Amino acid sequence: MADEPPDEDTLLRRYPWVVVRFACHFCRRGGDVRLAVLAAKFGADVTMGRLVGRFIAGCEWAPYNPTRKPQKYGMKCGGYCPDLRRRGPPDLPPSLSGLTLIEGGRRDMLPAEPAPLERRRRIGEADDGG
Ligand SMILES: [Zn+2]
Repeated sequence: MADEPPDEDTLLRRYPWVVVRFACHFCRRGGDVRLAVLAAKFGADVTMGRLVGRFIAGCEWAPYNPTRKPQKYGMKCGGYCPDLRRRGPPDLPPSLSGLTLIEGGRRDMLPAEPAPLERRRRIGEADDGG
């Protein structure tokens, strides 16, 4: 049970991570809120689903935002908590959270760091000055 990833029904008190992250598809809002802050505000027994709902309510694309006319096909806030239903801690930098396998043989391996973009000189452009 401890290995089960959290979902909308998970109580805040059972949320496995110190920071609760929110994000939105449309308004690009997002935020990291410390669990303790959320617990102080909403109580430790609030579900993650309710917290996501609170986040959505603050979004300009919220379906029930009173300043927006109801639109049958209007955009709705896509607010969500990216850490629900995922395994593994969210706070690790990408290099630690999982290794990316590069398919292919050794000769297809990419350098560890992306090569800096070089400005391409136009072919035919005078190179010898004037
Ligand atoms: Zn939104």
